[in-house]
Amino acid sequence: MNKWRELVLVGGGHTHALVLHELAKRPLYQTHITLISDVEYAPYSGMLPGHVAGFYTHEEMHIDLPKLCKKAGADFLHASVNSIDLDARCPLVNGQKLGPKADLISINVGSTPDSHGVPGVAEWAIPSKPVPQLLAGWERLKTAAESAAQPLRVVVVGGGAGGVELTLAMQFQTCGKADYTLVNNGPQIMSGHNDGARERLSAVLIQRGVTVMLENSVTEVKANGVHLQNGRWLPADYIFWVTSPAPPAWLRESSLALTDGGFIRVKPTLQTIHHPWVFAAGDVASIENQRTPKSGVFAVRMAKPLTANLRAFLENDPLSPFKPQKNFLSLIGTADGKAVASHRWLAMHSRLMWTWKDWIDRRFMRQFG
Ligand SMILES: Cc1cc2nc3c(=O)[nH]c(=O)nc-3n(C[C@H](O)[C@H](O)[C@H](O)COP(=O)(O)OP(=O)(O)OC[C@H]3O[C@@H](n4cnc5c(N)ncnc54)[C@H](O)[C@@H]3O)c2cc1C
Repeated sequence: MNKWRELVLVGGGHTHALVLHELAKRPLYQTHITLISDVEYAPYSGMLPGHVAGFYTHEEMHIDLPKLCKKAGADFLHASVNSIDLDARCPLVNGQKLGPKADLISINVGSTPDSHGVPGVAEWAIPSKPVPQLLAGWERLKTAAESAAQPLRVVVVGGGAGGVELTLAMQFQTCGKADYTLVNNGPQIMSGHNDGARERLSAVLIQRGVTVMLENSVTEVKANGVHLQNGRWLPADYIFWVTSPAPPAWLRESSLALTDGGFIRVKPTLQTIHHPWVFAAGDVASIENQRTPKSGVFAVRMAKPLTANLRAFLENDPLSPFKPQKNFLSLIGTADGKAVASHRWLAMHSRLMWTWKDWIDRRFMRQFG
């Protein structure tokens, strides 16, 4: 009789949630699965700004990981991994081995916003990830805004889709009780999107009273504001940090091959380049010779090929490459019952686009219900 194999999933991101969903429908042969996650309820990024805007409850935008594991016949371990012992084939938590000796490990721990070495970020800014920290910061701001004698001053650093969508969601909920400034280091918001989408979102930001500061870098964060590269001091009661994604620092403790930026280098099969039995997916993975965007859309798209390749690896079958689509649709909510659609050169801002986004996101979450 064949011996049982051990598959250890580190992190319950979008990709692993879908892998577990697939494995619940079609289990792996004689394989015991363990999921290690630092949260029991995994946030779904597509609904995050909508939750802040008050359109979705906490429950509606979170995946119940222990329940999902139960369906997939997997063990759930609630812990924060901070290294991987590749010789012992085991994740480590504060130097201690956790979980069984693995035949296969897959890593899907996401990213956090890059502090770019700016002093004071860790102490004073509210990061967009981990999401529980963002939501705790948002709750503090919301509560303070309700009783503030004067409008609170809020600075959001990072003018990508996440920063813009989050700003509009927070502004919608605290209208008249907080003033928002969006600081972006590039010459325009939403780099990577078309001009039409940028113009529509810029117009919404202006209409909603958000001050947008372009080509401005934050050089230091203090308790009561931020210093800008141009020498200006911007006073703030709350500072949200929504910059480009950076990998978890603990990866440097493992001997996995990393990019210069610290992301895990993987082949198109999502196998790490020197350890074929270790896979990585989602924001944390960097596919060799590809520039796959770090977004929930791609983390979701990696789920099917990852599941297929984990299965193929265990069955000694050939593995297939993940082929990312070049063009993809983005739907950015404007927290007024509308969304901006951005696809290649096409842009549209309407209620229909929000209805469409809401339908896509609710359908995604229904899989885990
Ligand atoms: C405000 C905002 C809005 C966004 N909106 C969108 C959007 O609308 N559409 C879109 O496509 N993308 C969006 N994104 C980007 C999206 O959030 C990420 O690209 C996506 O979440 C990456 O998915 P992932 O599967 O790699 O990891 P994640 O979904 O981030 O999940 C990683 C998981 O691993 C867990 N974890 C982390 N470290 C450890 C550890 N050491 N041990 C154990 N567990 C660990 C985390 O708790 C988390 O549950 C948004 C981002 C932000 C900040």
